Amino acid sequence: MIFGPPGSGKGTQAKILAQRWGALHLATGDLLRGEVAAQTPLGQKVAMYMNRGELVPDEMTLGLIEKHLLRAPSKVILDGFPRTVFQAQALDALLKKVDAKVDKLIFLKVPQSELIQRILSRARQEGRSDDTPQTVEMRLKTYYEKTLPVLDYYRQRCTVVEVDGVGTIEEVTARILGG
Ligand code: AMP
Repeated sequence: MIFGPPGSGKGTQAKILAQRWGALHLATGDLLRGEVAAQTPLGQKVAMYMNRGELVPDEMTLGLIEKHLLRAPSKVILDGFPRTVFQAQALDALLKKVDAKVDKLIFLKVPQSELIQRILSRARQEGRSDDTPQTVEMRLKTYYEKTLPVLDYYRQRCTVVEVDGVGTIEEVTARILGG
């Protein structure tokens, strides 16, 4: 599981690690953006939350992750999920059913001032509709209020590795692999 605030580089690092470890990269943000782009019934429901920088309701994200996880190979890197303690509890219950578990959480630490810069520069490069000055603040607030408690939840349940997320992509990857 790769964990961190928006803009901490989770997606970038998860892709590299998935390739290296022969694991499936499962990113709820990417899955949800795919639903929005394909204009599915779920996509139509979630677009409003995403554009505001709010979390999509738990039951919608959980349905999506369940569908993909049950079909997944043995090794998975979860990126952007779970984002609430409720999602974490639901994930644990689901994994128990298939005799699997979360074995490691990689926490990418990046100071807030750098996060804002990164998100706004990603907005210019990738044109993500939720990477705007208006939503950045909401996404960070949501992270601190709803998602950060997930870290404490897992501290008691699996190995948690804290990695300094400031530096080049290669430097951060090397720190993750070294830790
Ligand atoms: P991300 O690409 O991970 O930054 O996710 C983009 C947006 O998708 C978030 O701001 C949320 O609106 C939504 N999202 C992604 N993952 C989740 C999740 N696990 N729970 C709720 N909303 C999510």
